Amino acid sequence: RPLRLGLTGGIGSGKSTVGGMLAALGAALIDADQLAREVTGPQGAAMQAIRATFGAEYVDANGALDRARMRRLVFSLPQERARLEGIVHPLVMSHSDLLARQAADQGAALIVFDIPLLAESGRWARRLDAVLVVDCCAETQIARVLRRSGLARDVVQAIIAAQASRSARRAVADVVIANDADGMQALQARVRQMATLFGL
Ligand code: ATP
Repeated sequence: RPLRLGLTGGIGSGKSTVGGMLAALGAALIDADQLAREVTGPQGAAMQAIRATFGAEYVDANGALDRARMRRLVFSLPQERARLEGIVHPLVMSHSDLLARQAADQGAALIVFDIPLLAESGRWARRLDAVLVVDCCAETQIARVLRRSGLARDVVQAIIAAQASRSARRAVADVVIANDADGMQALQARVRQMATLFGL
């Protein structure tokens, strides 16, 4: 069966860039964030349980999650966040299992699961054969996010502080790709070299 590789990294680390490079080399890519958006989108698989648990005021006119309202609720209430994750995570897991089976049936040698919060959530470990962490320092993260978004510096810093620490993330890694230096070619070379380890 194909190798299942978890891919993670902090905001702006370059995780999605690395995922795209692995996909270009032939890996099947499964995006956990995208699946979470789908199950909480219009008539998504999580919406009935979200309505029953949190109330109709968290569902917008299209039958999708009211993200701004939910963000305000879970921001300061960890038990509410846990309830939301208890609904969304199992659905994301089962959808990603399904996509992985389809990729395996189609002959993929490597399945990459792009999971932003892999280090924060223990639930993924048993589904993965190995974990790849894209690593860089906070200054690099901040510079990259400022370049591509309109966020203020202190907001980016707060997001980084709320995510797993660099050392916690590295602790779950089987392989680390350093992505501090600017330049896509250097990163591409490192990814290509690593991909051969994973059978691509
Ligand atoms: P997020 O969690 O915020 O989605 P991410 O970890 O997926 O972030 P990317 O979107 O891959 O990060 O990269 C963030 C930005 O940094 C992108 O604009 C990307 O093009 C750029 N970037 C990534 N790696 C490099 C690099 N080695 N050199 C130059 N730019 C880079």
